Amino acid sequence: MSDNYDVIIIGGGINGCSTAMQLARRGVKVAVVEKDNIGDGPTGKSSAIIRQHYSNVLTARMAHYSLGIFEDFEAQVGGEAGFRRTGFVALVTAKDRAGLEANVAMQRGVGINTELLSPESLREIFPGMVLDDVVVAAWEEDSGYADPYLTVNAYAAAARRAGARIYINTAVTGITQTGGRVTGVTTTAGNLGAPIVINCAGAWGARVARMGGLDIPVSACRVQISLFKRPPGEEAPHPVVIDFTNSTYFRSETGNLTLVGLVDPGEANAVVDPDKYNEGADTDFILDTGERLIRRYPAMERSDSAGGYAALYDITPDWHVIIDEAAPGSGFFLCCGSSGHGFKLGPAVGLMVADRVLGVSNPLFDTHMFRLGRFAEGDPVRGKYEYSIAG
Ligand SMILES: Cc1cc2nc3c(=O)[nH]c(=O)nc-3n(C[C@H](O)[C@H](O)[C@H](O)COP(=O)(O)OP(=O)(O)OC[C@H]3O[C@@H](n4cnc5c(N)ncnc54)[C@H](O)[C@@H]3O)c2cc1C
Repeated sequence: MSDNYDVIIIGGGINGCSTAMQLARRGVKVAVVEKDNIGDGPTGKSSAIIRQHYSNVLTARMAHYSLGIFEDFEAQVGGEAGFRRTGFVALVTAKDRAGLEANVAMQRGVGINTELLSPESLREIFPGMVLDDVVVAAWEEDSGYADPYLTVNAYAAAARRAGARIYINTAVTGITQTGGRVTGVTTTAGNLGAPIVINCAGAWGARVARMGGLDIPVSACRVQISLFKRPPGEEAPHPVVIDFTNSTYFRSETGNLTLVGLVDPGEANAVVDPDKYNEGADTDFILDTGERLIRRYPAMERSDSAGGYAALYDITPDWHVIIDEAAPGSGFFLCCGSSGHGFKLGPAVGLMVADRVLGVSNPLFDTHMFRLGRFAEGDPVRGKYEYSIAG
């Protein structure tokens, strides 16, 4: 195989496929190179929660834009995203009250349908929750979650329909450069040429960056998910919850299940080899998250464990994505380090990366906040909570 493209994208997760669709629809000759299959990576194992609760105007706008795409997916992308509008609630105690209130005010200012709710009002929406410690909550009735596997494959299909070529079971092994400019990639199936290469390799992002001679602060971190079967009487789907007190998030899953994960900055410490890590959940993790869930949702004391699994976050020091060109004029672009909250932003990120690569003036979303240099400059993206993942 030896072909030439305008743009080569490394990685067929949500960011790679969304970017490919955006570029292909503008007539760019684009190839996605994926070492496994579309959706086999962390995107396919994502909890795929779609909420708009962010502390920064840019990320809130990106989440709001992306929700609009999920709501109108068939028309905007084509195919199915499996979006379920269950509502979303963020619960905080007194110490985070001011941060939450400021976030909700800012979010309303960018058009997000969100409101502050008292524990009493929230009880009407989700009667099963214990809210004794909660002073205020943020509620988004339009939010929910999607099916990540369907979503990423729908983006890949849309990219293909628009003319993109998608290589699966093909690993990029090197990035070729001449005089400081990329000229293409070497792969397990031969060489491909292009003046622009985009690193959308997620948890493998640092490895792929090194192929281009660049060190980037992206770590592959093992994170776990547990699943519990809701007991009789609790079959109805419940809203998505971020419970900052118990450092958990949980949502309904098909089959009367509730899926639980952690909202814990400590997850950044579980650095692993992305090609060799334990993909099962630890028994201790399942017991611990079960206890945290029962504290908030006591009926789950009667639930049965349905096991769990582990997957990878690609985490940067400030828990935000890097979107940038490695060196000006190099043609080597970075779009990785989504830090555990990149699924919902995927539609916006694809647009943003395509605009950046094509040099669109006045893009809808500016990439400056996500530049690689922010770490060295001491200007990271800052959130309103100690939990950077909610940033
Ligand atoms: C358990 C879990 C729960 C999550 N929950 C949420 C959530 O509720 N909401 C939310 O918004 N986000 C969530 N996320 C985060 C979100 O899923 C990710 O941020 C997003 O999917 C990252 O997409 P990506 O395209 O950047 O990377 P990935 O999905 O990691 O895709 C990168 C791809 O690159 C490929 N690749 C790597 N190296 C090479 C190479 N050398 N050659 C070719 N291909 C290569 C990989 O095989 C992989 O398919 C969660 C993530 C996990 C793991």
